[in-house]
Amino acid sequence: MINRRKFIALSAFSSAAALFTKKLPATGNVNVFNKGPIVVSTWDTGIEANKGAWKILSEGGRALDAVEAGVMVTEASQNCCVGLGANPDRDGFVTLDACIMDEFFNCGSVAFLERIKHPVSVARRVMEKTPHVMLVGSGAQLFAVAEGFPLEEQKLSPEAQKAYDNWLKQSEYKPVINIERTGNHGPSAPSKLESGEWNHDTIGMVAMDGKGNLSGSCTTSGMGFKMRGRLGDSPIIGAGLFVDNEVGACTSTGQGEDVIRIAGSHTVVELMRQGLSPEAACKKAVQRIVKIKGEKAKEIQVAFLALNKKGEAGAFAINKGFSYAIKSGTMEKLVPANSLF
Ligand code: ASP
Repeated sequence: MINRRKFIALSAFSSAAALFTKKLPATGNVNVFNKGPIVVSTWDTGIEANKGAWKILSEGGRALDAVEAGVMVTEASQNCCVGLGANPDRDGFVTLDACIMDEFFNCGSVAFLERIKHPVSVARRVMEKTPHVMLVGSGAQLFAVAEGFPLEEQKLSPEAQKAYDNWLKQSEYKPVINIERTGNHGPSAPSKLESGEWNHDTIGMVAMDGKGNLSGSCTTSGMGFKMRGRLGDSPIIGAGLFVDNEVGACTSTGQGEDVIRIAGSHTVVELMRQGLSPEAACKKAVQRIVKIKGEKAKEIQVAFLALNKKGEAGAFAINKGFSYAIKSGTMEKLVPANSLF
């Protein structure tokens, strides 16, 4: 996790520059006027995840398969902030949440799932093999095992172990999420980041395939050092992810409680339905959160990432530091999103 932050703070977009294949605006809205497939995902880990999705999209595959395969790359990485190696809850257990949604409003979700490597795939099985949308906790785990998913041993990544050890020194319960080193977060920020007090642990992905169909996925270990049983927005359809194949798709990252409060991803899709561009829709949703939270909004991060039916992508965050990865037939790029502060 610390490495990833350093990546964002230090090397930031120099490596992304090497990935340029088309001149684009430095920040904000990205217009993709080609009719071909496109995939976007949150944070710098999205670059690798998009490659996983692209293997499917570039061969004419379905967006649903692409968004599952894409975030599986991050879930399997074992060295960052998603999947079994990620930040544990405050009792030391990694609990995972994920969801997936296709172009027909089919959706599946798992939450508070332990010892399963690919929660997004279990979410897909919930969608395809049960009459339900959500399974949680031991029930989700039982279902996963019955579906043939192996029960893994929990093994924190070295970064997660270090962050947890640091956090344990004070064990102060201050759930604040997702402020980046590059953000506007006051003088004590670097030490807070190193102590693991500020963190983000999610990948959200939305894609459009060659047929113009949309799907999305979202997977997370949730807020680091959270209360046992705490859920954020990520596995909640309408909050962490929403897809309406007539309009567009959206996913979110950041402090999940504040995304849930405004049904964030659904709100963004509805704003796009009213004619707003993806970035403008994301901005409006962010403004709604800021209106609710007032000055306190400067202390948290929430970001939305959206894709519309025309293949235009855009994002917006409360604070600086959020970036998203985009891949299409003509570009591969990490885009720093615009923010309110
Ligand atoms: N949104 C996630 C949650 O609240 C965390 C994140 O985006 O890092 O669980």
